[in-house]
Amino acid sequence: MNEQIEREDANDFKITVVFDNFPYKEGLETSWGFSALVNTPGENILFDTGGDGNMLLSNMQKLQIVPGSIDIIVLSHIHGDHTGGLFAFLKQNSDVNVFVPQAFGDKFKNKVTESGAEITEVEESRQICKNVYSTGQLGLLIKEQGLVLKTDKGLILITGCAHPGIVKMVKVAKEIFKEDIVLAMGGFHLEWSTKGKIQKVISSFKESGVRYAGPCHCTGEKARAIFKKEYEEHFIEIGAGRIITMDDLKG
Ligand SMILES: [Zn+2]
Ligand SMILES: [Zn+2]
Repeated sequence: MNEQIEREDANDFKITVVFDNFPYKEGLETSWGFSALVNTPGENILFDTGGDGNMLLSNMQKLQIVPGSIDIIVLSHIHGDHTGGLFAFLKQNSDVNVFVPQAFGDKFKNKVTESGAEITEVEESRQICKNVYSTGQLGLLIKEQGLVLKTDKGLILITGCAHPGIVKMVKVAKEIFKEDIVLAMGGFHLEWSTKGKIQKVISSFKESGVRYAGPCHCTGEKARAIFKKEYEEHFIEIGAGRIITMDDLKG
């Protein structure tokens, strides 16, 4: 496939937030956790599975997402608010490849393969499918991988809880892929941070050239409000049911 086609394809990403504790679309349920569907011209990827299987599947149904249309699941980290919906999902469709940080326990990994799904353990940064990559497992105590989409507008970084630190994850993504980040979205884990710390994160985002910010989940109300104020029209409001396309990322 030549570079031109790669680039055109790269414009076709669509991200649908299926599960979040922040609301967005009316009629969807909200609960502590995160899950987002990434549609690519090839494979469809579910990044994280929220904290509850019934709610995940019910929100998917309301968004007209058929479990059978998903080819790949990427789990950011082991916490239940990101993996809680996995096994209910696998009962609907186990014909998927589940990418987990290598640090996940054997019990969890075995349960995935027992469901009939394939498992891929991620240690270093690697490709997941065309134009989609993992940052590799990062962090010390809680190993976590971020999802990176390569677009012609720059990188999109999606994080689960950002336990390794959101600034660190932004830095690593930039270093690995040698491109700027057009959008960082997901849980930034600032719920319990001081205003000073939040301001520092935002300054660092701006210095790193992160053009759009879509904080949700464990970012917390306070940090979201500050991001919104600082990022102005480059703030992307994220909650359950939000759909982001490349048209949302202009300048
Ligand atoms: Zn977590
Ligand atoms: Zn979380």
